[in-house]
Amino acid sequence: MKKERLVILGGGESGVGTALLGKAKGYDVFVSDQGIIKEKYKEVLIHNEIEFEGGKHSEEKILTAKMVMKSPGIPDKAPLVKQIRANGIEIVSEIEFASKFTNATLVGITGSNGKTTTAALTHHLLKQELNVGLAGNIGDSFAKQILEKNHPNYVLEISSFQLDDIKGFRPHIAVLTNITPDHLDRYEYQFENYIASKFRIAENQTKEDYFIYDADDEVIEKWLKAHPVQSTLLPFSLTKTIENGAYLDKENIKITIDNNQIIMPTKNLALEGKHNIKNAMAASTVAHLLKIRKQTIRESLENFQGVEHRLENVLKINKVQYINDSKATNVNATYYALESMDAPTVWIVGGVDKGNDYQELFQFVNEKVKAIICLGVDNKKLMDSFGNMVDIIVETEYMSEAVKIAYKIAEAGENVLLSPACASFDLFENYEDRGRQFKDAVRNL
Ligand code: ADP
Repeated sequence: MKKERLVILGGGESGVGTALLGKAKGYDVFVSDQGIIKEKYKEVLIHNEIEFEGGKHSEEKILTAKMVMKSPGIPDKAPLVKQIRANGIEIVSEIEFASKFTNATLVGITGSNGKTTTAALTHHLLKQELNVGLAGNIGDSFAKQILEKNHPNYVLEISSFQLDDIKGFRPHIAVLTNITPDHLDRYEYQFENYIASKFRIAENQTKEDYFIYDADDEVIEKWLKAHPVQSTLLPFSLTKTIENGAYLDKENIKITIDNNQIIMPTKNLALEGKHNIKNAMAASTVAHLLKIRKQTIRESLENFQGVEHRLENVLKINKVQYINDSKATNVNATYYALESMDAPTVWIVGGVDKGNDYQELFQFVNEKVKAIICLGVDNKKLMDSFGNMVDIIVETEYMSEAVKIAYKIAEAGENVLLSPACASFDLFENYEDRGRQFKDAVRNL
């Protein structure tokens, strides 16, 4: 029988993982990338005798596909994608494709902010007692792990772009951390489209599956009322009492599932900040559902090391704490960073503005920020927004200089916080590069 043709657009982590899994499952696989495919991925493709091309898309090799796996980075408006759809060829995402080949219990985590932190924390809680993989936007691709590891459980960090091309993907447990406007350029500048995309994580769930979400998030609450899901709901909240789900009772997190309650003091949490109480609630609800022992959950919440570039404590120099929150690429993430500052703070901010509205930060800037260092090519909006609010506001295009200025301004007991609220592409390769340059500059002080 002739093999079905699987064309993969994008030769990165998810593309190459899908290629390997597709080949193993008997597809005739072809990988096409408009850009340059990294050496390490080329080697894997060659070694596995998978045909590929870089620097172009050859239509005659692509439009013969039975199915196309599109890397999440490629937008729907790309002409080739439109053409594929016009030819009636099915387009799927990596998680859709890979999940067909496993019976593992899937925990899918999505949201505008907190995906990586919550996914890493959930994995940390589960791995104490279960054989569980961590995939999605983190580390090795899901497809590759299905092929090579075959864990009986997976925690998946899932972006809205991955959800855009699902059909049957059905996580047993879905987590929605929050929804704030982001990536609107990919959603016709309609916030509704982006919300709908996030909610697709629950679209194939039934009553036997669970949907864990932030009940303090008005966008989520409103959408759920108008578009009910089939799943069993387990909300979490910092402000309301929740009977089935998680809430904050003074200094304790209480999580109840089918009358079985676990209580955890917040003062012992390794991660700081209100947003991390929420992340801890979401992760612990998953662990409680999957029957991890209560003592194990409590201990693991205490010893979780956190994730690089997310409110990461770098060093204390002359009693000044340096904090790397380079992953804060939007205002909402920076909101929580500033909120969690418990001392006067020198704030390094800036980069590529994604249409930011800085107003919600004003209260914290007035209360906590003693100086602002704008680190970007175009800082006008920052200067206009915050110029009147602080005594010191300066501009630079160099991380080392930003850190040196911060060093001069900050006094014992204070903080220096890199939380840019912007993308990094004007001066850095990506947010990791920005965070690393910050840490290097701090270490070189
Ligand atoms: P994502 O994977 O969704 O981008 P991360 O866990 O990488 O999320 O965190 C991105 C940024 O958002 C970091 O600055 C982090 O401190 C902040 N953050 C983490 N959790 C939350 C949350 N629940 N709500 C808002 N901001 C958060």
